[in-house]
Amino acid sequence: AAAGAALTSTDNHDAFVRAQRVLPGGVSSPVRAYGSVGGDPRFLASASGPWVTDVEGRDYADLVCSWGPALLGHAHPEVVAAVQEAASRGLSFGAPTVGEVELGEEIRRRVPAAERVRLVSTGTEATMTAVRLARGVTGRSLIIKFAGCYHGHVDSLLAEAGSGVATLALPGSAGVTEASAAETLVLPYNDLAAVEEAFTERGSEIAAVITEASPANMGVVPPQPGFNEGLRRITSAHGALMIMDEVLTGFRVGPSGWWGLENRLLLDEGAQPSSDTGAVYTPDLFTFGKVVGGGMPVAALGGPAAIMDQLAPLGPVYQAGTLSGNPVAVAAGLATLRLADDAVYARVDEVSSVLSTALGEALDAEGVPHAIQRAGSLFSAFFGPAAAAAGVRDYAQAQAQEGFRYKALFHAMLDAGVNLPPSVFEAWFVSAAHDDAAVNRILEALPLGARAAAAA
Ligand code: PMP
Repeated sequence: AAAGAALTSTDNHDAFVRAQRVLPGGVSSPVRAYGSVGGDPRFLASASGPWVTDVEGRDYADLVCSWGPALLGHAHPEVVAAVQEAASRGLSFGAPTVGEVELGEEIRRRVPAAERVRLVSTGTEATMTAVRLARGVTGRSLIIKFAGCYHGHVDSLLAEAGSGVATLALPGSAGVTEASAAETLVLPYNDLAAVEEAFTERGSEIAAVITEASPANMGVVPPQPGFNEGLRRITSAHGALMIMDEVLTGFRVGPSGWWGLENRLLLDEGAQPSSDTGAVYTPDLFTFGKVVGGGMPVAALGGPAAIMDQLAPLGPVYQAGTLSGNPVAVAAGLATLRLADDAVYARVDEVSSVLSTALGEALDAEGVPHAIQRAGSLFSAFFGPAAAAAGVRDYAQAQAQEGFRYKALFHAMLDAGVNLPPSVFEAWFVSAAHDDAAVNRILEALPLGARAAAAA
């Protein structure tokens, strides 16, 4: 308790001033700065279940959930125990461990097309490696990505990226060479005709299409029916790979990620499963992160043995990491996935449904034109008459919204003890630990947030 008291007796503004003297912008990752909402970011001292506590001792119902990993809520006792137990056996060996095998097996059990799994430490490494692997196996150099999709800070994938790049209204990133940018074709999301056209023109040069399984870095913009299947069809026809980025959605929106959810839906609607996998469509490579590490640095890529075995040490595509498959981090991921059963996904769905409905009602009550968009348990709001009339299906529409309303809503909610993502371009994340007390805190704050949004 004494240590806790010391941790929560720092003035938040002092912490931020001090931080800015040593960390650029006072943060270690740009989305944590309140770049688009303004004000001092809250410095957090601890978290438990659905709550986070700042350095001044104020608690907030958390809808950031570490930007996704905290599916079970913060500091789940069994996950913490697994981490402590692993740490007591050594922090890092630089040698293979059985835990890595078990985590690989757990991923493959959930997503059977991930026959082989390479463990890395961040989502960025996973997508970077997937792109290199696609280039290595196809001998081609071009990559197609979609505007508004974020795949980490990989040079070739920063063009028109969502998340912090969108929040800070950056055109991309300085320091990315023209040569690298020229190897990336950026197309509008949900536009299969644009993909067809790109392949008609340059099909023999395209190594891969990378897509967020269901985008959530420009706000939540689900794929239109048939979009992901269309990408599968077009890439197959041209000998290019399809990389499905499930860093954010994987093991969060369901036990087998967005791919599992969407395929189950398609099968329920009567679509024909393909003979080899039983799924309606299957990408070549998957990337995972966030939940797969349960709050510790673990990410992964997975795919068929024939492709994955092209990675070193078996194949010519090099990838490595001193801390890859770190035993303490793997213990957190394994404990998290083992606890993430059907009841967890049902609770997360329920909380998300209650909160997204209440958000819509609160905004309606104040006459704020908006659209609430959902993808499984992920949701976000888009503001303005255009979004309200027709929804948002691509980045141009997401950017055209009345983002200033979110700024007002964010601060009113923060004042009322709710920690929202500090950007309109991010999903709201819930956890299975969001109990009635946390949900009620949010339900009580929403009308205040909506009133502020209306007045903005
Ligand atoms: N892909 C997607 C879809 C993501 O949402 C993110 C992170 N928000 C990444 C990749 C990059 O992951 P990381 O931040 O762990 O590098």
